[in-house]
Amino acid sequence: MKGNLSTICVQGGWQPKSGEPRVLPIYQSTTFKYDTTEQMADLFDLKTNGYFYTRLQNPTNDIVASKIADLEGGVAAMLTSSGQAANFYAIFNICEAGDHFISTTSIYGGTYNLFAVTMKKLGIDVTFIDADSSEEEIDKTFRPNTKALFGETIANPVLSVLDIEKFARIAHKHGVPLIVDNTFPTPINCRPFEFGADIVTHSTTKYMDGHALTVGGCIVDSGNFDWEAQHDKFKGLTEPDPSYHGLAYYNSFGKGAYITKATVQLMRDLGSIQSPQNAFLINLGLETLHLRMSRHCENAKKVAEYLETQDQVAWVNYSSLKSSKYYELAQKQFVNGASCGVVTFGLKGGKEKSIKFMDSLKLACIVTHVADARTSVLHPASHTHRQLSDEQLIEAGIQPDLIRFSVGIEDANDIIADIEQALACAYK
Ligand SMILES: *Cc1c(COP(=O)(O)O)cnc(C)c1O
Repeated sequence: MKGNLSTICVQGGWQPKSGEPRVLPIYQSTTFKYDTTEQMADLFDLKTNGYFYTRLQNPTNDIVASKIADLEGGVAAMLTSSGQAANFYAIFNICEAGDHFISTTSIYGGTYNLFAVTMKKLGIDVTFIDADSSEEEIDKTFRPNTKALFGETIANPVLSVLDIEKFARIAHKHGVPLIVDNTFPTPINCRPFEFGADIVTHSTTKYMDGHALTVGGCIVDSGNFDWEAQHDKFKGLTEPDPSYHGLAYYNSFGKGAYITKATVQLMRDLGSIQSPQNAFLINLGLETLHLRMSRHCENAKKVAEYLETQDQVAWVNYSSLKSSKYYELAQKQFVNGASCGVVTFGLKGGKEKSIKFMDSLKLACIVTHVADARTSVLHPASHTHRQLSDEQLIEAGIQPDLIRFSVGIEDANDIIADIEQALACAYK
Protein backbone atom coordinates (compact mmCIF):
# COMPACT_ATOMS: atom_id res chain seq x y z
CA MET A 1 0.00 0.00 0.00
CA LYS A 2 1.19 3.51 -0.86
CA GLY A 3 0.54 6.47 1.40
CA ASN A 4 1.92 8.27 4.39
CA LEU A 5 3.09 6.22 7.34
CA SER A 6 0.06 6.93 9.54
CA THR A 7 -2.26 5.69 6.80
CA ILE A 8 -0.18 2.54 6.26
CA CYS A 9 -0.25 1.87 10.03
CA VAL A 10 -4.04 1.97 10.06
CA GLN A 11 -4.98 0.60 6.65
CA GLY A 12 -1.90 -1.11 5.21
CA GLY A 13 -1.62 -4.87 4.76
CA TRP A 14 -5.12 -6.36 4.56
CA GLN A 15 -7.06 -4.97 1.57
CA PRO A 16 -10.49 -6.64 1.65
CA LYS A 17 -12.43 -7.17 -1.54
CA SER A 18 -16.17 -6.63 -1.71
CA GLY A 19 -17.93 -8.74 0.90
CA GLU A 20 -14.76 -9.78 2.74
CA PRO A 21 -14.15 -9.07 6.47
CA ARG A 22 -13.15 -5.47 7.19
CA VAL A 23 -10.57 -6.65 9.73
CA LEU A 24 -7.59 -8.89 8.95
CA PRO A 25 -8.77 -12.50 9.41
CA ILE A 26 -6.72 -14.99 11.42
CA TYR A 27 -6.03 -17.89 9.07
CA GLN A 28 -5.91 -20.43 11.86
CA SER A 29 -5.00 -23.38 9.67
CA THR A 30 -1.86 -25.44 9.33
CA THR A 31 -2.61 -26.35 5.76
CA PHE A 32 -4.36 -25.29 2.55
CA LYS A 33 -6.49 -27.28 0.14
CA TYR A 34 -5.94 -27.83 -3.61
CA ASP A 35 -8.09 -29.40 -6.32
CA THR A 36 -5.37 -31.27 -8.18
CA THR A 37 -2.06 -32.95 -7.45
CA GLU A 38 -0.45 -30.81 -10.11
CA GLN A 39 -1.47 -27.53 -8.46
CA MET A 40 0.17 -28.69 -5.26
CA ALA A 41 3.26 -29.95 -7.09
CA ASP A 42 3.77 -26.53 -8.72
CA LEU A 43 3.82 -24.94 -5.29
CA PHE A 44 6.50 -27.34 -4.10
CA ASP A 45 8.58 -26.45 -7.16
CA LEU A 46 8.07 -22.72 -6.45
CA LYS A 47 6.58 -22.48 -9.96
CA THR A 48 3.46 -20.77 -8.64
CA ASN A 49 2.84 -18.69 -5.57
CA GLY A 50 0.46 -20.02 -2.96
CA TYR A 51 0.00 -21.42 0.50
CA PHE A 52 0.36 -25.04 1.46
CA TYR A 53 1.73 -25.28 4.97
CA THR A 54 1.89 -22.60 7.68
CA ARG A 55 5.51 -23.40 8.63
CA LEU A 56 6.48 -21.86 5.30
CA GLN A 57 3.84 -19.23 4.80
CA ASN A 58 0.48 -18.18 6.21
CA PRO A 59 -1.76 -15.41 4.78
CA THR A 60 -2.24 -13.60 8.13
CA ASN A 61 1.52 -13.53 8.69
CA ASP A 62 2.25 -12.42 5.14
CA ILE A 63 -0.28 -9.59 5.27
CA VAL A 64 1.25 -8.24 8.49
CA ALA A 65 4.76 -8.64 7.02
CA SER A 66 3.68 -6.69 3.93
CA LYS A 67 2.44 -3.83 6.13
CA ILE A 68 5.83 -3.69 7.87
CA ALA A 69 7.57 -3.82 4.46
CA ASP A 70 5.47 -0.83 3.34
CA LEU A 71 6.27 1.07 6.54
CA GLU A 72 9.99 0.51 5.97
CA GLY A 73 9.78 1.19 2.24
CA GLY A 74 11.04 -2.33 1.44
CA VAL A 75 10.05 -4.82 -1.27
CA ALA A 76 9.49 -7.97 0.81
CA ALA A 77 9.31 -9.09 4.43
CA MET A 78 8.74 -12.11 6.63
CA LEU A 79 7.59 -12.52 10.19
CA THR A 80 9.50 -14.72 12.62
CA SER A 81 8.60 -16.07 16.04
CA SER A 82 10.95 -13.64 17.81
CA GLY A 83 13.42 -10.83 17.25
CA GLN A 84 16.18 -13.34 18.00
CA ALA A 85 15.01 -15.54 15.12
CA ALA A 86 14.85 -12.48 12.84
CA ASN A 87 18.47 -11.52 13.51
CA PHE A 88 19.65 -15.12 13.29
CA TYR A 89 17.92 -15.67 9.94
CA ALA A 90 19.02 -12.29 8.59
CA ILE A 91 22.66 -13.31 9.02
CA PHE A 92 22.37 -17.06 8.45
CA ASN A 93 20.59 -16.46 5.13
CA ILE A 94 23.89 -15.18 3.69
CA CYS A 95 26.57 -16.66 5.99
CA GLU A 96 27.61 -20.28 6.39
CA ALA A 97 30.39 -22.16 8.20
CA GLY A 98 33.71 -20.54 7.30
CA ASP A 99 32.19 -17.09 6.78
CA HIS A 100 32.63 -13.95 8.83
CA PHE A 101 30.59 -10.84 9.58
CA ILE A 102 31.09 -7.60 11.49
CA SER A 103 28.80 -6.18 14.16
CA THR A 104 28.84 -3.16 16.40
CA THR A 105 29.60 -4.03 20.04
CA SER A 106 26.78 -2.15 21.71
CA ILE A 107 23.85 -4.29 20.63
CA TYR A 108 21.04 -6.06 22.47
CA GLY A 109 22.49 -8.64 24.91
CA GLY A 110 20.62 -11.54 23.32
CA THR A 111 21.95 -10.65 19.89
CA TYR A 112 25.46 -10.31 21.31
CA ASN A 113 25.29 -13.85 22.72
CA LEU A 114 23.83 -15.18 19.48
CA PHE A 115 26.70 -13.68 17.49
CA ALA A 116 29.56 -14.22 19.95
CA VAL A 117 28.72 -17.73 21.19
CA THR A 118 26.06 -19.59 19.22
CA MET A 119 26.96 -18.52 15.70
CA LYS A 120 30.62 -19.23 16.44
CA LYS A 121 29.58 -22.83 17.25
CA LEU A 122 28.12 -22.98 13.74
CA GLY A 123 31.49 -21.92 12.34
CA ILE A 124 30.47 -18.34 11.58
CA ASP A 125 32.94 -15.85 12.99
CA VAL A 126 32.14 -12.31 14.10
CA THR A 127 34.27 -9.25 14.79
CA PHE A 128 32.81 -6.62 17.10
CA ILE A 129 33.59 -2.96 16.55
CA ASP A 130 32.69 0.21 18.42
CA ALA A 131 29.88 1.97 16.52
CA ASP A 132 31.78 5.24 16.85
CA SER A 133 34.98 3.84 15.25
CA SER A 134 36.48 5.68 12.29
CA GLU A 135 35.88 4.47 8.75
CA GLU A 136 39.52 3.33 8.52
CA GLU A 137 39.26 1.27 11.70
CA ILE A 138 36.11 -0.45 10.43
CA ASP A 139 37.70 -1.03 6.99
CA LYS A 140 40.50 -2.96 8.67
CA THR A 141 38.11 -5.52 10.17
CA PHE A 142 36.93 -6.74 6.73
CA ARG A 143 38.26 -10.06 5.45
CA PRO A 144 37.80 -11.82 2.09
CA ASN A 145 35.12 -14.04 3.71
CA THR A 146 33.18 -11.15 5.33
CA LYS A 147 29.51 -11.32 4.29
CA ALA A 148 27.67 -8.62 6.25
CA LEU A 149 27.89 -5.57 8.47
CA PHE A 150 25.38 -5.34 11.34
CA GLY A 151 24.28 -2.64 13.79
CA GLU A 152 21.27 -1.34 15.75
CA THR A 153 19.82 2.05 14.76
CA ILE A 154 19.53 2.83 18.48
CA ALA A 155 21.33 0.27 20.58
CA ASN A 156 19.50 -1.44 23.44
CA PRO A 157 20.29 -0.52 26.23
CA VAL A 158 23.25 1.80 25.57
CA LEU A 159 21.21 4.06 23.22
CA SER A 160 24.17 4.82 20.96
CA VAL A 161 22.95 5.96 17.53
CA LEU A 162 24.29 4.25 14.40
CA ASP A 163 25.44 6.50 11.58
CA ILE A 164 23.60 4.46 8.94
CA GLU A 165 24.92 6.44 5.96
CA LYS A 166 28.51 5.89 7.08
CA PHE A 167 27.97 2.19 7.79
CA ALA A 168 26.20 1.66 4.45
CA ARG A 169 29.05 3.35 2.60
CA ILE A 170 31.59 1.10 4.31
CA ALA A 171 29.57 -2.09 3.73
CA HIS A 172 29.04 -1.31 0.05
CA LYS A 173 32.70 -0.44 -0.47
CA HIS A 174 33.45 -4.01 0.62
CA GLY A 175 30.61 -5.54 -1.42
CA VAL A 176 28.43 -6.65 1.49
CA PRO A 177 24.95 -5.61 2.71
CA LEU A 178 24.30 -3.49 5.80
CA ILE A 179 21.78 -5.13 8.14
CA VAL A 180 20.17 -2.79 10.65
CA ASP A 181 18.05 -3.75 13.66
CA ASN A 182 15.51 -0.91 13.69
CA THR A 183 13.53 -2.06 16.75
CA PHE A 184 13.87 1.06 18.92
CA PRO A 185 13.03 3.93 16.53
CA THR A 186 10.58 1.87 14.41
CA PRO A 187 9.94 3.09 10.83
CA ILE A 188 7.85 5.91 12.31
CA ASN A 189 11.03 7.66 13.47
CA CYS A 190 13.67 6.20 11.16
CA ARG A 191 13.66 4.39 7.82
CA PRO A 192 17.17 2.93 7.48
CA PHE A 193 16.71 2.17 3.74
CA GLU A 194 16.64 5.92 3.07
CA PHE A 195 20.19 6.09 4.45
CA GLY A 196 21.49 3.11 2.49
CA ALA A 197 20.79 0.08 4.71
CA ASP A 198 19.94 -3.06 2.72
CA ILE A 199 18.11 -5.28 5.22
CA VAL A 200 16.17 -4.23 8.31
CA THR A 201 15.22 -6.45 11.25
CA HIS A 202 12.77 -5.93 14.11
CA SER A 203 11.83 -7.35 17.41
CA THR A 204 8.09 -6.67 16.96
CA THR A 205 7.85 -7.61 20.65
CA LYS A 206 8.70 -4.00 21.46
CA TYR A 207 6.93 -0.90 20.06
CA MET A 208 5.25 -2.62 17.10
CA ASP A 209 3.21 -4.82 19.41
CA GLY A 210 3.50 -2.09 22.00
CA HIS A 211 1.38 -3.75 24.67
CA ALA A 212 3.72 -6.55 25.84
CA LEU A 213 1.42 -9.24 24.43
CA THR A 214 3.48 -11.27 21.96
CA VAL A 215 7.08 -12.10 21.20
CA GLY A 216 7.82 -11.70 17.50
CA GLY A 217 10.23 -10.54 14.83
CA CYS A 218 10.40 -9.39 11.25
CA ILE A 219 12.97 -9.15 8.44
CA VAL A 220 12.51 -6.61 5.65
CA ASP A 221 14.51 -6.45 2.42
CA SER A 222 14.99 -3.15 0.59
CA GLY A 223 15.57 -5.06 -2.64
CA ASN A 224 18.51 -2.73 -3.30
CA PHE A 225 21.51 -4.98 -2.75
CA ASP A 226 22.88 -6.36 -6.03
CA TRP A 227 23.67 -9.99 -5.11
CA GLU A 228 24.66 -10.83 -8.68
CA ALA A 229 27.35 -8.12 -8.67
CA GLN A 230 28.94 -10.15 -5.82
CA HIS A 231 28.11 -13.51 -7.40
CA ASP A 232 30.91 -15.53 -5.78
CA LYS A 233 30.38 -14.02 -2.34
CA PHE A 234 26.69 -14.91 -2.25
CA LYS A 235 26.51 -18.23 -4.06
CA GLY A 236 23.56 -19.25 -1.86
CA LEU A 237 21.50 -16.62 -3.69
CA THR A 238 23.13 -16.63 -7.10
CA GLU A 239 23.79 -20.33 -7.79
CA PRO A 240 21.38 -23.29 -8.05
CA ASP A 241 19.92 -24.65 -4.79
CA PRO A 242 19.98 -28.46 -4.82
CA SER A 243 17.12 -28.55 -2.30
CA TYR A 244 14.92 -26.79 -4.91
CA HIS A 245 15.75 -28.73 -8.08
CA GLY A 246 18.56 -26.39 -9.03
CA LEU A 247 16.60 -23.16 -8.77
CA ALA A 248 18.76 -20.02 -8.35
CA TYR A 249 16.98 -17.50 -6.11
CA TYR A 250 18.34 -14.33 -7.66
CA ASN A 251 17.59 -15.51 -11.21
CA SER A 252 14.05 -16.57 -10.36
CA PHE A 253 12.98 -13.92 -7.83
CA GLY A 254 15.20 -10.85 -8.41
CA LYS A 255 14.49 -8.33 -5.67
CA GLY A 256 12.48 -10.95 -3.79
CA ALA A 257 15.40 -13.41 -3.69
CA TYR A 258 16.62 -12.78 -0.15
CA ILE A 259 13.21 -13.14 1.57
CA THR A 260 12.22 -16.07 -0.67
CA LYS A 261 15.40 -17.92 0.31
CA ALA A 262 14.88 -17.15 4.00
CA THR A 263 11.33 -18.50 3.74
CA VAL A 264 11.80 -21.61 1.67
CA GLN A 265 15.14 -22.68 3.19
CA LEU A 266 15.43 -21.32 6.72
CA MET A 267 11.77 -21.30 7.72
CA ARG A 268 11.27 -24.70 6.06
CA ASP A 269 14.24 -26.24 7.89
CA LEU A 270 14.39 -24.35 11.18
CA GLY A 271 10.74 -23.38 11.58
CA SER A 272 10.66 -20.27 13.78
CA ILE A 273 7.28 -19.29 12.41
CA GLN A 274 5.10 -16.59 13.94
CA SER A 275 1.68 -17.88 14.99
CA PRO A 276 -1.18 -16.31 13.00
CA GLN A 277 -2.91 -15.41 16.30
CA ASN A 278 0.13 -13.43 17.37
CA ALA A 279 0.53 -11.85 13.94
CA PHE A 280 -3.04 -10.58 14.34
CA LEU A 281 -2.06 -8.96 17.66
CA ILE A 282 1.05 -7.40 16.11
CA ASN A 283 -1.20 -5.92 13.43
CA LEU A 284 -3.47 -4.45 16.08
CA GLY A 285 -0.40 -2.84 17.64
CA LEU A 286 0.74 -1.49 14.27
CA GLU A 287 -2.60 0.27 13.82
CA THR A 288 -1.67 2.75 16.58
CA LEU A 289 2.14 2.68 16.23
CA HIS A 290 2.31 6.24 14.83
CA LEU A 291 0.22 7.64 17.70
CA ARG A 292 2.07 5.75 20.38
CA MET A 293 5.56 6.57 19.06
CA SER A 294 4.89 10.28 19.08
CA ARG A 295 3.54 10.11 22.66
CA HIS A 296 6.42 7.87 23.80
CA CYS A 297 8.93 10.38 22.43
CA GLU A 298 7.13 13.43 23.76
CA ASN A 299 6.99 11.88 27.25
CA ALA A 300 10.58 10.59 27.09
CA LYS A 301 11.89 14.04 26.21
CA LYS A 302 10.04 15.56 29.19
CA VAL A 303 11.42 12.85 31.48
CA ALA A 304 14.98 13.29 30.14
CA GLU A 305 14.77 17.08 30.54
CA TYR A 306 13.48 16.67 34.10
CA LEU A 307 16.26 14.22 34.99
CA GLU A 308 18.90 16.63 33.69
CA THR A 309 17.81 19.24 36.25
CA GLN A 310 18.03 16.88 39.24
CA ASP A 311 21.07 17.09 41.54
CA GLN A 312 21.04 13.35 42.33
CA VAL A 313 21.32 12.43 38.66
CA ALA A 314 24.91 11.90 37.49
CA TRP A 315 24.22 11.69 33.77
CA VAL A 316 21.35 11.34 31.27
CA ASN A 317 21.50 9.85 27.79
CA TYR A 318 18.75 10.62 25.31
CA SER A 319 19.59 11.58 21.75
CA SER A 320 16.88 14.25 21.51
CA LEU A 321 18.69 16.23 24.24
CA LYS A 322 21.12 18.91 23.04
CA SER A 323 23.65 17.52 25.57
CA SER A 324 23.74 14.13 23.78
CA LYS A 325 26.77 13.35 21.64
CA TYR A 326 24.31 11.85 19.15
CA TYR A 327 22.10 14.97 18.96
CA GLU A 328 23.22 16.06 15.45
CA LEU A 329 22.98 12.54 14.07
CA ALA A 330 19.53 12.10 15.62
CA GLN A 331 18.37 15.36 14.02
CA LYS A 332 19.56 14.10 10.65
CA GLN A 333 18.38 10.49 10.83
CA PHE A 334 15.18 10.63 12.87
CA VAL A 335 11.89 12.25 11.93
CA ASN A 336 11.80 15.52 13.90
CA GLY A 337 14.85 14.26 15.82
CA ALA A 338 12.57 11.91 17.79
CA SER A 339 14.34 8.64 18.64
CA CYS A 340 12.30 6.36 20.93
CA GLY A 341 10.78 6.26 24.40
CA VAL A 342 13.79 4.82 26.17
CA VAL A 343 16.00 7.06 28.32
CA THR A 344 19.06 5.92 30.24
CA PHE A 345 20.61 7.65 33.23
CA GLY A 346 22.85 7.09 36.23
CA LEU A 347 22.51 8.23 39.83
CA LYS A 348 25.18 9.71 42.06
CA GLY A 349 26.12 6.97 44.50
CA GLY A 350 26.12 4.35 41.75
CA LYS A 351 24.62 0.89 41.73
CA GLU A 352 23.35 0.95 45.31
CA LYS A 353 21.34 4.16 44.78
CA SER A 354 20.06 2.87 41.43
CA ILE A 355 18.59 -0.19 43.15
CA LYS A 356 17.03 1.86 45.96
CA PHE A 357 15.55 4.26 43.42
CA MET A 358 14.06 1.48 41.31
CA ASP A 359 12.59 -0.33 44.30
CA SER A 360 10.84 2.91 45.29
CA LEU A 361 9.09 3.48 41.96
CA LYS A 362 5.34 2.88 42.04
CA LEU A 363 3.97 3.67 38.56
CA ALA A 364 7.04 2.42 36.70
CA CYS A 365 7.35 -1.36 37.01
CA ILE A 366 10.52 -3.45 37.13
CA VAL A 367 10.26 -5.75 34.11
CA THR A 368 12.69 -7.26 31.61
CA HIS A 369 10.52 -5.91 28.85
CA VAL A 370 11.06 -2.55 27.19
CA ALA A 371 9.25 -0.31 24.71
CA ASP A 372 5.74 -0.89 25.98
CA ALA A 373 2.74 1.39 26.61
CA ARG A 374 3.38 1.11 30.37
CA THR A 375 6.41 2.82 31.85
CA SER A 376 8.96 0.23 32.88
CA VAL A 377 12.44 0.18 34.27
CA LEU A 378 15.44 -2.15 34.37
CA HIS A 379 18.93 -2.11 35.83
CA PRO A 380 21.04 -4.08 33.32
CA ALA A 381 23.92 -4.61 35.78
CA SER A 382 21.56 -6.43 38.20
CA HIS A 383 19.28 -8.01 35.61
CA THR A 384 19.95 -8.68 31.91
CA HIS A 385 23.74 -8.36 32.20
CA ARG A 386 24.27 -9.62 35.77
CA GLN A 387 26.77 -12.28 34.66
CA LEU A 388 29.22 -9.53 33.63
CA SER A 389 31.80 -7.95 35.94
CA ASP A 390 31.95 -4.14 36.20
CA GLU A 391 34.91 -4.15 33.78
CA GLN A 392 33.04 -6.30 31.26
CA LEU A 393 29.99 -4.05 31.61
CA ILE A 394 32.03 -0.97 30.77
CA GLU A 395 33.57 -2.81 27.82
CA ALA A 396 30.04 -3.49 26.54
CA GLY A 397 29.30 0.23 26.99
CA ILE A 398 27.02 -0.32 29.98
CA GLN A 399 27.87 1.75 33.03
CA PRO A 400 27.20 -0.23 36.24
CA ASP A 401 24.84 2.52 37.41
CA LEU A 402 22.89 2.63 34.11
CA ILE A 403 19.11 2.62 34.59
CA ARG A 404 17.07 1.85 31.49
CA PHE A 405 13.87 3.80 31.80
CA SER A 406 11.28 2.91 29.17
CA VAL A 407 8.85 5.81 29.15
CA GLY A 408 5.25 4.78 28.46
CA ILE A 409 2.29 6.69 27.10
CA GLU A 410 0.71 7.62 30.45
CA ASP A 411 0.54 11.28 31.50
CA ALA A 412 4.11 12.64 31.61
CA ASN A 413 3.37 14.55 34.83
CA ASP A 414 2.49 11.31 36.62
CA ILE A 415 5.66 9.60 35.37
CA ILE A 416 7.79 12.52 36.53
CA ALA A 417 6.01 12.62 39.90
CA ASP A 418 6.83 8.93 40.35
CA ILE A 419 10.52 9.57 39.60
CA GLU A 420 10.48 12.51 41.99
CA GLN A 421 9.13 10.48 44.93
CA ALA A 422 11.49 7.56 44.19
CA LEU A 423 14.51 9.90 44.13
CA ALA A 424 13.38 11.32 47.47
CA CYS A 425 13.14 7.78 48.93
CA ALA A 426 16.55 6.76 47.55
CA TYR A 427 18.34 9.76 49.04
CA LYS A 428 16.38 9.98 52.31
C1 LIG B 1 14.44 -7.38 22.31
C2 LIG B 1 15.35 -7.14 21.20
C3 LIG B 1 15.73 -8.19 20.35
C4 LIG B 1 15.31 -9.61 20.57
O1 LIG B 1 13.94 -9.73 20.31
P1 LIG B 1 12.99 -10.83 20.98
O2 LIG B 1 11.68 -10.51 20.34
O3 LIG B 1 13.01 -10.63 22.45
O4 LIG B 1 13.51 -12.16 20.57
C5 LIG B 1 16.57 -7.87 19.28
N1 LIG B 1 16.99 -6.62 19.08
C6 LIG B 1 16.65 -5.60 19.88
C7 LIG B 1 17.15 -4.23 19.61
C8 LIG B 1 15.80 -5.82 20.97
O5 LIG B 1 15.47 -4.80 21.77
